Amino acid sequence: MEFPHTPHEEYERHICESYRHGDWIVHHCPLCNYELRENWRTGEISVRNPKLKIKHSGSYFPTEYQSIFENLN
Ligand SMILES: [Zn+2]
Repeated sequence: MEFPHTPHEEYERHICESYRHGDWIVHHCPLCNYELRENWRTGEISVRNPKLKIKHSGSYFPTEYQSIFENLN
């Protein structure tokens, strides 16, 4: 007997290590080598080794980045 597939697959969750690299904020996953870089000046985002079945989370907010959000209000 086969179990039916659930409509919403459980996503695996990885926690990224986040650090700042110049204008870039880098979220790097030590488990699967996923890497998301976002440029806090231009908003540009680049992803390396994207994983569709894995949810990545991580947070890093340099003080400059925070002030950008505050200025939007
Ligand atoms: Zn990962």
